[in-house]
Amino acid sequence: EAYIPKIIEVNYIEGSSDKQWSSKNFPWTKKLEANNKKVFGNHSFRPNQREVINATMSGCDVFVLMPTGGGKSLTYQLPALICPGVTLVISPLVSLIQDQIMHLLQVNIPAAYLSANMDWTEQQEILRELSSDYCKYKLLYVTPEKVAKSDVLLRHLDNLHSRELLARIVIDEAHCVSQWGHDFRPDYQGLGILKQKFSNTPVLALTATATASVKEDVVQALGLVNCIVFRQSFNRPNLWYSVIPKTKKSLEDIDRFIKENHFDECGIIYCLSRMDCEKVAEKLQECGHKAAFYHGSMDPAQRALVQKQWSKDDINIICATIAFGMGINKPDVRFVIHHSLPKSIEGYHQECGRAGRDGQRSSCVLYYSYSDYIRVKHMISQGAIEQSPFASGYNRNNFANSGRILETNTENLLRMVSYCENDVDCRRLLQLVHFGEKFDSGTCKKTCDNCLRIKSLIEKDVTEIAKQLVELVKLTGQQFSSSHILEVYRGSLNQFVKKHRHDTLSLHGSGKHITKGEASRVLRHLVIDDFLVEDVKKSDIYRSVSSVLKLNESKVRNLLAGGQTITLRFPSPIKASKFGKSEITPAKGSLTSGKLSPPQSDTPAQPQPEGDLNL
Ligand code: ADP
Ligand code: MG
Ligand code: ZN
Repeated sequence: EAYIPKIIEVNYIEGSSDKQWSSKNFPWTKKLEANNKKVFGNHSFRPNQREVINATMSGCDVFVLMPTGGGKSLTYQLPALICPGVTLVISPLVSLIQDQIMHLLQVNIPAAYLSANMDWTEQQEILRELSSDYCKYKLLYVTPEKVAKSDVLLRHLDNLHSRELLARIVIDEAHCVSQWGHDFRPDYQGLGILKQKFSNTPVLALTATATASVKEDVVQALGLVNCIVFRQSFNRPNLWYSVIPKTKKSLEDIDRFIKENHFDECGIIYCLSRMDCEKVAEKLQECGHKAAFYHGSMDPAQRALVQKQWSKDDINIICATIAFGMGINKPDVRFVIHHSLPKSIEGYHQECGRAGRDGQRSSCVLYYSYSDYIRVKHMISQGAIEQSPFASGYNRNNFANSGRILETNTENLLRMVSYCENDVDCRRLLQLVHFGEKFDSGTCKKTCDNCLRIKSLIEKDVTEIAKQLVELVKLTGQQFSSSHILEVYRGSLNQFVKKHRHDTLSLHGSGKHITKGEASRVLRHLVIDDFLVEDVKKSDIYRSVSSVLKLNESKVRNLLAGGQTITLRFPSPIKASKFGKSEITPAKGSLTSGKLSPPQSDTPAQPQPEGDLNL
């Protein structure tokens, strides 16, 4: 019999609060409020915390979607404290678990964890305590691997359960269950066994990132019953978003941006590779910033030191791979800069989410160049990209190169590209749509670059341009990069064009009258919409990668046969020239209203040639 999850959504996005769960008349309300103050030192509850606690304490299965920093831990730690028995918490990372346990012990809540690389005698001691009559632990943390691989653990859970001392099962970072998510961990899929074995024990699944399909996946895989979903808006009104073309002088741009907008303030710069981290940190140090780098090949002690210096403000800026960020609770991060393309919108949203936890205005700036896309894509296909700490080694080594995971990763990356390429729609809208949330871009109030820019837009039919570009890819034998195709299209007579005799093609120069930016946007659109496929070509001799455009035959056939029109929105040229460039991109040093936009360099980087990227 097929399992059909029944989901009751308590949707707080549109402000319809469900009175049932926000009631202050539950038998435990007084105790809840007292302990929240006395033990955790909180003066009140944050949005949805009370509701989630009431629902889980009523015995329901609950799924919580709450942004990073929203306060998910409290929703199970507080119930764990006031309910009899032990709460089992599954969490993906030992370092994260250790951090939590340290905090719990500080406020005198007994907690322990089990992990595979722990001393066996130590593990036995904890297990013995679990089976004792008066088990002191209120919370037991384990990694998902432990559930999957340890029969001993399951036996002890069974034992707790039979004595009615298994209070609750918590799945933290629940999106790791889903292959559609950006941090899939195979061991999370095995967690369905918990609900099978302990069907009357309430399950609480928590995540900061889940699209509708990820949510369905999680509910299904965990076997949640009549699950109540609490979600709240992922919009972070105090974060200002912008995407800036990445130039060859991107490091100078970053230096200037920080000096002009966040001097001596705290920030994170996310970089793609370990080498990038070190280079960026060094450059910023030269420019007089207190910067350091942080990545996966540093030894743990070194990493811990950097993180500590950063939390004590001895260091302002951390240049890091996405391995950095876990358990970071620094409230006054004033900026998050992406030095290169993030690998998914979920990842991007989460990384930006580390800024401005104190609610103060903070900047999120992404430096984008199309050539970074080629680079990230290549690294993903090689499994060479540094993962967020959630993702297991298994994920990276065994799965990165194969089938569905690679496809999902590439698709996630393409969505990110299209986010960056979009210079029209509200950034908040673009992000929130991705999380299945409705958003009125009027509420952005010009706190993103696209809303800030004064422009009127016109819809343009670009079908003819698209057809010509596709024909050109075909004519040149599907072996050239997009920048080369654009050169030929716009009638370039450079050496390379001549050498390949592309100056003699019928379509050479047929796009003379079209601006480079416009032509390249159409070409990108053709890739994003799957008419053209970007293939990575790697040269072993030069240790470089370049991209080659190929045709997606079936879609292209339809397009050329006239079966499709393609329209894109462009800024109206009349408005743009009337207001002048300075209205759109604030001039150097005049960042009054447009604080979030760093000054632009003189050389625009878009589009960049994508050949010869040394990895
Ligand atoms: P999440 O897991 O959702 O990312 P955490 O549970 O780690 O967030 O909480 C983030 C921070 O918010 C922690 O420092 C925590 O102490 C704080 N916090 C949580 N709930 C409250 C509250 N009701 N009042 C004040 N601070 C809170
Ligand atoms: Mg958390
Ligand atoms: Zn906006």
